[in-house]
Amino acid sequence: MLRREARGSHPIVEENRVHKVIIIGSGCAGLTAAIYAARADLNPLVLDGYEPGGQLALTTLVENFPGFPEGILGPEFVEQTRKQAQRFGTEFRSGAVSSVDLSKRPFQIVAGKETFESESLIIAAGASARMLGIESEKHLLGHGVSTCATCDGYFFRNREIMVVGGGDTAMEEATFLTKFAKSVTLVHRRNEFRATRIMLDRARANEKIKFMTPYIVEEVHNVENKSVESVQLRNVETNALVKVEVEGVFVAIGHDPNSAVYRGQIDMDEAGYIRTHDGPKTNIAGVFAAGDVQDHHYRQAITAAGSGCMAAMDAEKFLAENKL
Ligand code: NAP
Repeated sequence: MLRREARGSHPIVEENRVHKVIIIGSGCAGLTAAIYAARADLNPLVLDGYEPGGQLALTTLVENFPGFPEGILGPEFVEQTRKQAQRFGTEFRSGAVSSVDLSKRPFQIVAGKETFESESLIIAAGASARMLGIESEKHLLGHGVSTCATCDGYFFRNREIMVVGGGDTAMEEATFLTKFAKSVTLVHRRNEFRATRIMLDRARANEKIKFMTPYIVEEVHNVENKSVESVQLRNVETNALVKVEVEGVFVAIGHDPNSAVYRGQIDMDEAGYIRTHDGPKTNIAGVFAAGDVQDHHYRQAITAAGSGCMAAMDAEKFLAENKL
């Protein structure tokens, strides 16, 4: 294996080669991009990132991805898609990306102790749902605690559920969930809402939604039974504790795109979502973005997969046009 010194302070410890395409992220967008790029003989390298498999790896049953009439478990879906990408020659490396240099080609990507070089890049690093940061929510994620009403609302038919948050996402999810739930308790930490007037009014007009403010979630029970049975709330003004019996908790306090390492090098909006145009193209020729790192609107496995496919097809076209 050849080794050489990298530009700057990072040693290149990978073999001395320039990849045609590197895909950052191994969620639905990244794995779909890998399948397409591998089948186009581009020998893609996928860098796994902090959460291999992305948000699907953290969920239970996926019922809305076409082709699975009985649904499929999120981790199993990720595993199968990964195998599919491997079958056509995709290479995987673990380790999160710590810095990139997109100022010239080949682009440089530092992940762990290695520096990689690539003529084209697909950023499919995803977004992470913000969590409340309490221990019990971690244990019950996928077992009654969810961060996606579109994905999991269906499982809560005729149940009492809670939505936490005071922004548009919380209003949208609470309103959507009334289609299934017996009632929705919307809990927010302030008496004022960040949500837009129209979304707030719509939620307020819905008689299935009950508002509780200003409360924070202290604990979700019952971790031992691996199911949600009740939530302990604390009033932030009076410190009074209230126990609310619900069977599901939807944490809707926003998402953060995993884009911090690209800041200052690529166009992104105020919230950090990478700006794309004409499908997956970014402002840098040869750099494409797919999935939740560039989409705060749809955020679905199927839309992420679609944009991963587009990114791989455009990367292939870019390489061919530039004879790379
Ligand atoms: P957001 O506007 O940032 O709101 C997050 C909410 O969660 C805030 O009310 C915040 O409380 C609360 N929160 C944050 N951290 C918390 C914590 N640790 N514990 C308890 N509460 C916490 O996020 P978003 O609602 O996801 O919206 C993001 C963007 O997407 C916005 O620009 C929104 O307008 C847009 N969006 C639009 C639509 C639509 O138009 N259909 C739908 C969804 C989202 P504080 O207010 O106290 O900070």
